[in-house]
Amino acid sequence: MSTRTPLRPVPEHQRHVATLLAAGRGPDRPWPTETVPLDRARGRVLGEPVIAPEPLPAFDNSGMDGYAVRAAEVASATSGTPVRLPVGEDIPAGAPVGELVPGTVRRIMTGAAVPMGADAVVEVEVTDGGTETVEIREARPVGRFVRTAGSDVAAGAQVLAAGTTLGPAQLGVLAAFGIHDVVVRRRPRVLIVSTGSELAEDPAPGSGQIRDANGALLAAAVEESGGVAVRKLWVEDDVPTFLALLDGELAAGDVDLVITSGGVSAGAYEVVKDGLGPRGIEFVKVAMQPGMPQGSGLVDGVPVVCLPGNPVSALTSWEVFVRPALRLAFGHPRPQRSVVRATLTEPLEPLRGKRQLRRARLDRITGTVRPWGPPGSGFLGWFAGADALIDLPADGALLAAGDTVEVWDLTSD
Ligand code: AMP
Ligand code: MG
Repeated sequence: MSTRTPLRPVPEHQRHVATLLAAGRGPDRPWPTETVPLDRARGRVLGEPVIAPEPLPAFDNSGMDGYAVRAAEVASATSGTPVRLPVGEDIPAGAPVGELVPGTVRRIMTGAAVPMGADAVVEVEVTDGGTETVEIREARPVGRFVRTAGSDVAAGAQVLAAGTTLGPAQLGVLAAFGIHDVVVRRRPRVLIVSTGSELAEDPAPGSGQIRDANGALLAAAVEESGGVAVRKLWVEDDVPTFLALLDGELAAGDVDLVITSGGVSAGAYEVVKDGLGPRGIEFVKVAMQPGMPQGSGLVDGVPVVCLPGNPVSALTSWEVFVRPALRLAFGHPRPQRSVVRATLTEPLEPLRGKRQLRRARLDRITGTVRPWGPPGSGFLGWFAGADALIDLPADGALLAAGDTVEVWDLTSD
């Protein structure tokens, strides 16, 4: 009789990792923040709300190139019966706020301060463009083409909420307020440990040796997720060496998360499982392909997530379990990848008993998706040509070309 434990469903392990990465955090102990200058803040997550220190715009200004007028003085203007008025001094953008003498108008440029006394701007297109006197051919109501102070953002209003990611528009508005430094959530600091005696440190691998792909792969994944890969290490398949390295690293106290790769499956010499199983890390099998063997838990109070060694499995596991959990933990407003529905270009057969994430190429214009490479976890070269994952539920019916599937867009923020 089989005594095999059932595989853990993917959502359950996702919750597990999310809870682990949020360990100890809460309203009393939010994710730490730091202050950075605007030119280093792109992509960061705002740590506290930003309140407008002044109105935006700061003063009434013209929304058009034209003439600053008293609306009442041009109220009768039509093309048949234009109003002709003397033109006072020009108001280029940047000129200080002036005055408008009654019975006159002034040429005003877009963005220039509307002079006191004026209450509308007549755009140059409905005039003869005169500089001594001007013929105004259409009336304009009070307020037309005047961008009043605070009409965009009132002083004291919240400009940006905590948890907003800072992109061009957000950084632009902060600059417009003269805000030079901004409080952002500290980037999560991640230690990456590749394991495997087959991994060569030397640039020319010896017989039976390979190069470390996961170090670079996971460091990039960390950075792409908004974190910092603080250190990227390699250790051979030797439990005492592995534990000594990990304990030494954790003693530095500068790590929010440890990611290991390799050494978690069912073979002999499973250095991570053998070393961290006795230290309280839970090793499970998740109903997923690739990425079935997974480990997670706390070591010395620091979350440790142990990913399988095949680079395709490691990256898929990162996408499914770690990335969303890490982003949720530090308060990123979009922890998940965008999931879109797309039309398959060829048939696919879901697996029995396991959710499968198939590398694919997503055509965002036609809404079609093409499986890219074989399903096995040994095809990193194929993954490198893909930009999406087809999410196939376990035990689904055979899918035909033209069927709709859910696809994770790996290019989404
Ligand atoms: P493991 O999970 O340690 O049994 O490794 C599974 C497979 O992934 C083996 O073929 C390893 O050689 C390979 N592998 C493990 N770690 C890495 C790594 N850092 N870079 C490239 N391949 C790796
Ligand atoms: Mg190994």
